[in-house]
Amino acid sequence: MATKHAGKTAMLAQVNAGIFGFAVDSISDACEWEFFCECGRPTCHELVMLPLDAYTAIRDGRQSVLAPGHQPSQLERARRLGEEARALRAQAAHQVRRAQKNRERGS
Ligand SMILES: [Zn+2]
Repeated sequence: MATKHAGKTAMLAQVNAGIFGFAVDSISDACEWEFFCECGRPTCHELVMLPLDAYTAIRDGRQSVLAPGHQPSQLERARRLGEEARALRAQAAHQVRRAQKNRERGS
């Protein structure tokens, strides 16, 4: 059940990305577009009116499009946190490798 939840969120995020791609190609960015709420609840069919720059800010901030009062699913939140942790670990590993290389060069 919870897995389905996150699956719907991911699917809606893709749909919204598609809407964004369409919107960017077609019109002036002053206009607001309807995006789907990405909370992922099976009963949620909310549309969220967003100007395109607000949508890109949400995407760049790795947030979900959410209708007022809607919460992202726990699983989706956990998945995003996990992604961030993985990115941080990769970054740390990269720093360590670089530090080791510098040390080898120094000696
Ligand atoms: Zn919702």
